[in-house]
Amino acid sequence: MRATAEVVICGAGIAGVAAAYHLAVRGAIRDVMLVDERPPLSLTSDKSTECYRNWWPGPGDAMVAVMNRSIDLLEDLARESHNAFRLNRRGYLFATAEPTTLSRFRRAAGEAAALGAGPLRVHATASSDYAPAPADGFEDQPTGADLITDPDLIRRHFPYLATDTVGALHVRRCGWFSGQQLGMYLLERARERGVRLLEGRVERVETAGGRVRGVVVETPDGSGTISTPRFVIAVGPFLRHVAGLLGVELPVFSERHVKIAFSDGVGAIPRDAPMLIWADPVRLPWSEEERAELASSDAHRELLDELPAGVHGRPEGGPGSATVLLLWNYDLRPVEPTFPLEFDPIYPELVIRGMARMIPGLSAYLVRLPRCVVDGGYYAKTRENRFLAGPLPVEGAYVIGALSGYGLMASNGAADLLADYICARPLPRYAPAFRFDRYQDPGYAKLLEQWGETGQF
Ligand SMILES: Cc1cc2nc3c(=O)[nH]c(=O)nc-3n(C[C@H](O)[C@H](O)[C@H](O)COP(=O)(O)OP(=O)(O)OC[C@H]3O[C@@H](n4cnc5c(N)ncnc54)[C@H](O)[C@@H]3O)c2cc1C
Repeated sequence: MRATAEVVICGAGIAGVAAAYHLAVRGAIRDVMLVDERPPLSLTSDKSTECYRNWWPGPGDAMVAVMNRSIDLLEDLARESHNAFRLNRRGYLFATAEPTTLSRFRRAAGEAAALGAGPLRVHATASSDYAPAPADGFEDQPTGADLITDPDLIRRHFPYLATDTVGALHVRRCGWFSGQQLGMYLLERARERGVRLLEGRVERVETAGGRVRGVVVETPDGSGTISTPRFVIAVGPFLRHVAGLLGVELPVFSERHVKIAFSDGVGAIPRDAPMLIWADPVRLPWSEEERAELASSDAHRELLDELPAGVHGRPEGGPGSATVLLLWNYDLRPVEPTFPLEFDPIYPELVIRGMARMIPGLSAYLVRLPRCVVDGGYYAKTRENRFLAGPLPVEGAYVIGALSGYGLMASNGAADLLADYICARPLPRYAPAFRFDRYQDPGYAKLLEQWGETGQF
């Protein structure tokens, strides 16, 4: 095989597919080759919970600004496709039973408002005008957040929450969509504009005079070279490896994240619920016998301790579906990405127990666990949890990745930014926050040392 392309994109996950779309459909670069050794969208991008939010911490407003841009693009795509990927705007509902957490909610909402996520509305009486979100659609909805502190109002709108819930923060420019359908929509539009998809593994990148010249690909029909002046790395958990082919060391690592899906036959989570997140740490109520068993297990002893806040879940699927998704990833030590992933057999029970703290109706499943589908993947991340989109030190080489736990929601914003570089368009104000060379800036290195919240839960 001997071929040419104006741009070769390595990786057809959501990042690579969105990059191809933004170059060929919204930009004017038609001669794009997408190379992937796997079927498109099949490694990490189909393991996601498929949620989105414009609710991100600082420092600075770059993260909120790029997410607002990405969600604007998602909404445009939803409008033009007659909502082919079922974008909703149900919001994220953070709930707490700790009165002290209310001030944290207020602080976070104040910060988010200052960064551009929208205003905070506080509902402290039962007659307050809190407006719940519709189950479907995304138009004409508020931004910002509603903080509900009146117990009757909480009970009226969210009767399925634990009765000791003292506050609920409903963040509004958030929801979910079908990531697979979004990805296929982007890929089809890109292919209509001439983007080619090649099955193969990128083995080498050829350079001359400090510039990209070609990409060597191992395909099922043998090895071949694609001559190209531009190479985009969009390889999810393999960023370090593929950037290494260019002699570039990317400051990224991987965390393992797992989710479960099961049929909620008892209807513990209503079908029109928003994304539900318990904001308090949880100490699980084990029996004496279970405690003794866990105490004697090196792998599971820590389950007796208080486990971190952030267990979350949501209903999944349209009419007729009873599926719910739940996640609680508390072991976030960096790992080498290996496939297939292995799952701890105790995880489904653990996550149901954790979520039952927020939704007591889920306790019905602790008598006899439901049949769960367990899957997951790796968050490829930078230490401050901000992605990479832009040029690399080798001329003609670019990266779009380290999209962590937000790659579906951010991929349009990141790909639009990447296309700004490649199509030589003016760059948005937030561009420097996502460049690889930010790590060379001594001011940024200082900022990194004091970095607080990363916006992950
Ligand atoms: C459990 C879980 C829940 C999540 N929930 C959310 C959520 O609610 N919202 C959200 O926005 N995001 C979520 N995410 C994150 C999101 O799924 C990822 O950020 C996103 O899928 C990353 O996409 P990607 O294209 O960068 O990587 P990938 O989807 O991994 O794609 C990379 C592609 O590169 C290919 N590749 C690698 N090396 C080579 C090579 N040498 N040659 C050819 N091809 C190569 C691979 O085959 C693969 O297809 C979640 C992730 C997980 C694991």
